[in-house]
Amino acid sequence: GLTAKLNAAFKKLRGKGRLSESDIKEAMREIRLALLEADVSYKVVKDFVKSVSERCSGQDVMESLTPAQTIVKIVNEELIRLMGSENQRISISPKPPTVVMLVGLQGAGKTTNGAKLAGLFKKQGKRPLLVACDIYRPAAIKQLEVVGGQLGIPVFQMGQENPVKIAKAAIRHAQQHGNDMVFLDTAGRLHVDEALMNELKSIKAEVQPNEILLVVDAMTGQDAVNAAQSFNEWLDIDGVMLTKLDGDARGGAALSVKAVTGKPIKFIGTGEKLDMIEPFHPERMASRILGMGDVLTLIEKAEQALDQKKAAELEQKMRANKFTLADFYDQLLQIRKMGPMQDLLGMIPGMGSMKNVQVDESALGRVEAIILSMTPYERENPACLNSSRKRRIALGCGQKVEDVNRLLKQFDQMQQLMKQMNGKGKKRKLPGKMG
Ligand code: GDP
Ligand code: MG
Repeated sequence: GLTAKLNAAFKKLRGKGRLSESDIKEAMREIRLALLEADVSYKVVKDFVKSVSERCSGQDVMESLTPAQTIVKIVNEELIRLMGSENQRISISPKPPTVVMLVGLQGAGKTTNGAKLAGLFKKQGKRPLLVACDIYRPAAIKQLEVVGGQLGIPVFQMGQENPVKIAKAAIRHAQQHGNDMVFLDTAGRLHVDEALMNELKSIKAEVQPNEILLVVDAMTGQDAVNAAQSFNEWLDIDGVMLTKLDGDARGGAALSVKAVTGKPIKFIGTGEKLDMIEPFHPERMASRILGMGDVLTLIEKAEQALDQKKAAELEQKMRANKFTLADFYDQLLQIRKMGPMQDLLGMIPGMGSMKNVQVDESALGRVEAIILSMTPYERENPACLNSSRKRRIALGCGQKVEDVNRLLKQFDQMQQLMKQMNGKGKKRKLPGKMG
């Protein structure tokens, strides 16, 4: 799926240090293909990739210490921008009832999700009324009554009466019975046709709903987007409810709707059950598409904690094999600043579920204590640490000489590793720097 494809593109970048123009080009090509395969509209993909590439080829990305992460961050920000920068609510009319008209193709999920939405408002203390304006299928009225019954929400119906009359009568009924919200469940068709649009237009003209919500089935991808475009042209909708996002939805609809219609997604349906509805949050959808759990939060934390200039200096030292215990200690402090290791691990996708991963925070503390017991000279010149110095250090930090030896051995191994990497002339990661 989209998530896997995008991650494959990012993974290739992650293995590299600085990125070249052609690395970025290749990544953009893969992002473009991934989006097209996910059924995002061609024009949307084109514009999206254009703005991402423009931002990515900037000097600051190429020269940043963590170019792959910077690119993921840019893609994330552009995804959010594409879907609308914030959650959009339904505007409540100062003069009740607030009338919400649900429109959409047959099977999109109007009846179910209209009821879900009414249920959501009921939970917030509103007194909604569901209205059966789909008069063409007798089963449709029954269906609305069933879901209304399950949610404890009254349903207004007048059988096969003209839908415009039903809607007007329902609003009067709501005013008389203290229902402050009215949800009109309208008819759909398999395809957009003029008869349906004219019916919906006359309901709109007569009752002037506060909100026309278009319900679209996310699983139908490009078709959903085309439907959204037609409905918007006919009815000038206010927002979109994207349903069936629990299925194998390819994500394309979520990415295209706003760009194509200019109207925001306001709610998402995430299952058949009547409480499976959520306000749409662009930033959550973006991280869901990127499949990254809270990895972005993690990146932000790392950025805050790592002093970029210091990191650059360290890299120099490593290259020159001048990395000392003092530098090692600095790195330890940087890692510390990011917060408890347990929290950090939980943010890595896939790791969150590994409840029994134990990070030995106290081991880090012991290492810290040993280094702190050394003189600055000793930290810069670990070779001078003879047995009497080691004894003094061990006493100073309340640990054993073996502990001091173990740390020195680990540090030695780390230096060997760096030498090897330097020998190969390859880029490597700083300790504590995530890549
Ligand atoms: P309408 O013709 O637009 O009124 O569509 P319905 O409300 O009757 O829904 C059509 C079908 O889609 C029903 O079987 C619903 O249970 C199902 N459905 C609606 N929303 C969702 C959803 O968010 N997830 C899943 N899995 N099924 C849904
Ligand atoms: Mg229906």
